[in-house]
Amino acid sequence: MGKGRRKCPKCGSTRVIPWFWGLPTPESMDDVMARSYRGELMIGGCCVSDHDPHWHCKACEHDWE
Ligand SMILES: [Zn+2]
Repeated sequence: MGKGRRKCPKCGSTRVIPWFWGLPTPESMDDVMARSYRGELMIGGCCVSDHDPHWHCKACEHDWE
């Protein structure tokens, strides 16, 4: 994160947030949960596979890598 704003490839919205996959470390758990609570992060779960999306559009609910 940090460089430029992501855009949704479907609707062009910049209301894009990242998916968080895997288990947060105990140190990052509070931060991850707080960001999820604020709607800045989507928590995907602990099982990571090759086709999990990396980004989520809050405008049209589109997920993509
Ligand atoms: Zn979109």
